Parts: sequence; structure tokens; C-alpha cells
Amino acid sequence: MTSRINLFDREIGRLNDVLCAINLLGWDARTQMPAGAARMRGAQVATLTGLARGIATGRAIRDAIAMELDGLDDRPESALRRRALLDTQAAIRIADRIPESLVVEAAALKTEAQQVWAEARTKSDFALFQPLLERTVLIQREIAAAIGYAAHPYDALIQQYEPGMTLAELQSLFARLKAGLLPLIDTALGRPQPRLDVLERSYPVDAQKRFALEIAQKFGYDLKRGRLDVTVHPFEVSFTREDVRITGRFRENWLPGGLFAIWHEAGHGIYEQGVDPAFTRSAFATDIINLYAVGGASFGMHESQSRLFENRVGRSHRFWELHYGALQTNFPASLGDIDMETFWRAVNVVRPSFIRVEADELTYDFHVILRVEIEAALIAGDIAVKDLPRIWAEKVKTYLGLTVPDDTQGVLQDVHWSAGMIGSFPTYTIGNVMGAQLFATARKAPEVAAGLQSGDYLPLTRWLNHHVHRHGRSKTPGEILRFATGSGLDPAPYLEDLSEKVALLA
Ligand code: ZN
Repeated sequence: MTSRINLFDREIGRLNDVLCAINLLGWDARTQMPAGAARMRGAQVATLTGLARGIATGRAIRDAIAMELDGLDDRPESALRRRALLDTQAAIRIADRIPESLVVEAAALKTEAQQVWAEARTKSDFALFQPLLERTVLIQREIAAAIGYAAHPYDALIQQYEPGMTLAELQSLFARLKAGLLPLIDTALGRPQPRLDVLERSYPVDAQKRFALEIAQKFGYDLKRGRLDVTVHPFEVSFTREDVRITGRFRENWLPGGLFAIWHEAGHGIYEQGVDPAFTRSAFATDIINLYAVGGASFGMHESQSRLFENRVGRSHRFWELHYGALQTNFPASLGDIDMETFWRAVNVVRPSFIRVEADELTYDFHVILRVEIEAALIAGDIAVKDLPRIWAEKVKTYLGLTVPDDTQGVLQDVHWSAGMIGSFPTYTIGNVMGAQLFATARKAPEVAAGLQSGDYLPLTRWLNHHVHRHGRSKTPGEILRFATGSGLDPAPYLEDLSEKVALLA
């Protein structure tokens, strides 16, 4: 097979092309598409998804894998190739276990559930959404049973987003986080609150964009292979490493909403842009289980990169010492009378709130913990969907000390469940923890430390590129973490960082 194109590469390349086209249609739907096109776009995406599934589980790719595995020798140079073949084979086996009828049922339910959820959320009426969520839970239970698990059905669902993670490991992680975070929150809340009015002054959107993008480029986001658009919910999406787009949302009277979201999405984008070019259109840039073109190793590893740039760098004291002057120059009328210290305190406010996506760093993980506890209990059948508003309110009271005023600000706030995504929430906290671990290790490299001091972020990005980005999906998140930091998932660096910050806020 020397001069002929390799059959496996051809099939994976075709699959990746279709998945990139789906991503592009999705990007268009969220940035440019007129509302009237929604139904037809749904049909187009469904057709392409069917095509992708056909390629991913088809005869041609199975035969190509079997044939090539047969002929593969044991030389170390063959290890990467073997891995691509075996990983793909394993993903096809998981797809095989989920009956086609269940896939179709889940897809149909998703379209309906998202519509009803949006209406229920607007009306703050959980009862409207309840029957749809009940069907979603039943389907997800069947999917968990089909995928298989050793200890808990929730383990099967987590696998789709974070390979290797289990509920048991999450529970011990959460226990350490609770023990570490609660005293920090108490300390922070015992202090005078910062001046948030400063962030609500007038910040013209064009200047926000310009400043946010300048910093994103300093972080290493390459605009020659990227672009920024405006959407309701910020996101990042890629169509190979050569075209990695981000979106943001800007409000003239709320400065942090725009800036930090851009740096978050830029962190995701830098990851995708940094995947080894040799992996383009390969198994190592293709998530076969979720039928998604992506170079990141897992949802959690992806989130580690976004949270690292958003919080570990973007909310640090040194960062604002270096860049507050430039921010003031962009907004002289609003920031001329505000010193850097006042501003830094405002963007690091600790304030328990109802909405996860607006939560501060110290309370954020409690939003995740309460959702994961609810999801695991739902999938195990320990609690009923109809009781969710009450259970939600109890947990928000316990973890955040707040009384939920209505379903909109409570159980209905997130889109995930309506999209059939049960098992993805843990990856937000995993990302926080991994991001801090990677950052703590990176800072030990003298050139990275010097760069963070002087405002040159490229040594940090090069470190991340070498240890994380370039590997694409050729290593598991656990392997990357061990390769980069020498240890497994460990919340200690995260808790240390937050405790240093609370001390600085004194
Ligand atoms: Zn993210």
C-alpha cells in the first residue's frame, strides 16, 4: 500500500471533513443565519450527522482498521499508529452498543426538549419542561446501560465527555474542594465588598473588543487562523487547526462580561490552534463518540485551557499591574478616577449567586457539585424529576446560602439537560482543577515565570503547547496531566491559588 492512499486515513479524513462542515453550519447558525432558516438548517445538520455516523461505523473503516492492525509490527514508530487504530476501534464499539433507535429517539427529543425548555425558562414554569426531562432521563439511563459501567450508571455517561473519570473519583475530589473552599468563602464574605459600580459605567463595545482581542493575541490566539464574532452565548469552534473561531458577548454597562469571556474562549482557541499539524483530519482530531471535530483531549482538558487564561492569568494581580494602564487609556472617562487596586478587587468579587455562568471563582464549583449530585441521583433512580425544583432549592440553600426565587434562576437555567447532555457538568470543575495544576507546573519554568512578570505570555503558551496542545487526542487527559505535571488530578494547586488570592484581597 505504498503509493495508494491509506484506507483508514481516507475514511477518517472524510469523517473529519463532514464533522468540520457540521461545525461550520453550527457556527453560522449562531452568528449569521436568519431566524427563518432554523428548520432547514436542522434538516441539513441531521443529514450530515447521518452521513458522519455512516462513515464512523461503516464497513470501510472497520475493514481498514482490521487489515492494518494485522499488518502492524511492534516497532516503537508504530505505536502512535496502533493507538489511532485501537482508539477508533474502541469508539466504534461504544457506538455499536447504543442501538440506532435510541440515537434517533434522543436526537428527536433534543429538538423538542430545547424548544420547550426555552419556553419553560421564559415562563419560569418547570412543570412545562418536566415530561421532556423525564423522557431525557429515561433515554440517558438506557444509553448508560448500553455503554456499560462497573460501579455506577453515571460513570458510563461521564465517559463520553471525560474518558477515565468516575463518580467515585469525583466524589472524593468534591469532598476536598468543599473542605478547602468553604472557609475561603467565609473569610472573603467577612470583608467589605468591593465597588462593583466601577464595572457598570459606560464601556463602548468597540473599545472592549479591541482591548480584549489585543490581550487574546498576546496570549497566543492567532487571528490569521481565527476570528471573533458576537453571539448571545460565547463559544469556540474549529474546522481544523487552520480555522478556529471564537465569539463573545459585550454589554456597554458590564465590562467583565465581555473581557473575561473572550479570554476564556481564546484559551479554547489556542488549544485547537496548537494541535500538531500532522493530526489534521486524523483520528487524533476527531471525537468519534460525540461525532465532533475537535483536537482537545477531553471536555475537561479543554476547559483547563480556557479557565487558565481567564482566571489564573486574566484575574491575577500581576496581570492587571501590567495592563490596567492600557485599559484606562481605552476608557479614560470611566476609569480615569479608579486605581488598579480598586479595579482588581472588583473583578475578583466573591458573591454567591444563582447563575452558574456568572459565578465568581470561589463559589463556581458549588454550582457544578450540586448539578452532579442531582444528575447522578437521577440516573440511578434515587430521585424523581418532579422533585427537582425542591431538591435544587435545598442544595442552593446548603451550598450557596441563597433562597431560589423562581425556576428561571434555579433548575431551568442551563441548556445542557434539554440537549440530552447528562454527565458533562463535572468537566467544568475538572477544568478548573487541571488548569491550576498545569499553571502551577508551568510557572516553575524560569522563562514562563519571567514572561508572566513582564507581560510576555508566549513562553507560557509554548509550554502549554509542548505539554498539552500538540498531543491532540493522541493521549488521554490523564496521560497528558501526568506527562505535564507528574501527577494525577489533584485540587491542591487550585486551592492554594485561591487561598493566595483571598489573602491578597484582605
Ligand atoms: Zn469553556
